[in-house]
Amino acid sequence: MSNVLQISPRLWQLKMGMVNSFLLTTDDGLLLIDAGWPGQAEKIFSAVRESGHTPRDIRHLLLTHGHIDHAGSAAEVQRRTGAQTYAHAIELELITIPAIVYRLLIKPGGTKYEPVTIDHVLQNGELLAIASDIEIIHSPGHCAGQVVLLLRNDGVLIAGDLCSNIMGLSYSVLNEDISLARETLLRVAKYPFDRAVFGHGKPLNNRANQRLKERFSDPKLR
Ligand SMILES: [Zn+2]
Ligand SMILES: [Zn+2]
Repeated sequence: MSNVLQISPRLWQLKMGMVNSFLLTTDDGLLLIDAGWPGQAEKIFSAVRESGHTPRDIRHLLLTHGHIDHAGSAAEVQRRTGAQTYAHAIELELITIPAIVYRLLIKPGGTKYEPVTIDHVLQNGELLAIASDIEIIHSPGHCAGQVVLLLRNDGVLIAGDLCSNIMGLSYSVLNEDISLARETLLRVAKYPFDRAVFGHGKPLNNRANQRLKERFSDPKLR
């Protein structure tokens, strides 16, 4: 079964088992969005090859947020490709915890992944220099420093863990603040996009903004 799904002429979904990464062609090589669980770098690279690209052309690595299933292999991907890394300021503590602290305190318990240095701190409303129609939308709730990406020219939202679409649209598991997550979902649903892709689950292929609004308007939904 293929691990790759082409979403638009420049965007591919890479299925890493329980989590998705995304690959985008830009004005400056490839942008990888999220880097799976720890130990998945090779799996990511083989999906990149399957999409018709070369892993060494990954010049940029953006983390939607710092959870272990999205940033777990970021350090290895960064080491093997030399990619510039991007994340929101609020996630930095989780992503970049000093290596010595990681080795001494955390790794034995296995609850933390290898830290990675972040080169570029993302701002809400920022347009990416390497793909100037792509807007960063700060999307707190699931976690405080999550960002999602609006690909204006494609009408696609890369939604991270804003919500999931595994067995239909639902809240992501382990939200820090579910009422803030809902507020953010309804705010993001006002942007213009027809399709949405998620860290967990299948793409939503038409009227995606409208369907997010309909689904999460009910305050009793949990
Ligand atoms: Zn998450
Ligand atoms: Zn996740």
